[in-house]
Amino acid sequence: MRWGIISDVHGNLQALEQVLRAVDAESCDELFFLGDAVGYGPQPDECVAVLGDRVVLAILGNHDDAVLGRTNPFSFNEYALRAALWTRRTITSETRAAIAGYTLIGRREGDLFVHASPANPRAWEYLLSIREAERQFAAFTEPFCFIGHSHMPGGFILTPEGRITAFRPKRLLLDDQFRYIINVGSVGQPRDGDPRACFVLYDREKGLIEFKRVEYPVERTQALMAESHLPDFLIQRLQKGY
Ligand code: ZN
Repeated sequence: MRWGIISDVHGNLQALEQVLRAVDAESCDELFFLGDAVGYGPQPDECVAVLGDRVVLAILGNHDDAVLGRTNPFSFNEYALRAALWTRRTITSETRAAIAGYTLIGRREGDLFVHASPANPRAWEYLLSIREAERQFAAFTEPFCFIGHSHMPGGFILTPEGRITAFRPKRLLLDDQFRYIINVGSVGQPRDGDPRACFVLYDREKGLIEFKRVEYPVERTQALMAESHLPDFLIQRLQKGY
């Protein structure tokens, strides 16, 4: 069984389409989505519709929750706020209903899926340090927890002795004695200095995790954002992946 795991699409249909092509080329059996279908990008309706057709599990992200009017977008930075308010005005009632069906916590075959963090999924915490990972590993029992949210691919490994190490995105041969928190990165707005869309391929038989990068026509997304008068900072950052 081969799983594709994607997150943080953020209304970037150009990136999503290329990732889905790559997922198909890798002959994935099932596709999982870890939240933030919308926010920042210019095609929220299209992204939500495409995800609805393709994924077996859709997790709720903070930007999704904000357009439903639950997470307060005024807690976001200025650019994210402007994009969230634009998205809320723009999306159709079908899109809103689809997002309302996303779940906060997912489980499949003994693995755990959340948008931000397993300890308190609705607090939208950023899991970026070993110290923070220690607290998070203590909050769940599954061998694997897949997350998104920070748009920083990579993760943390916990050994049976209780030692935690961080890892950068790479080919990761899994050890069944270890537990893992794996951040699958972002499809629609990478922030690790690589502007290419990111996703994870998980081969369960081989016990192998691979981080994949996919080129997409960034300038097409940028042009659509400019047409919709989305903030220039958000348009520029796609090119550099920050
Ligand atoms: Zn996000």
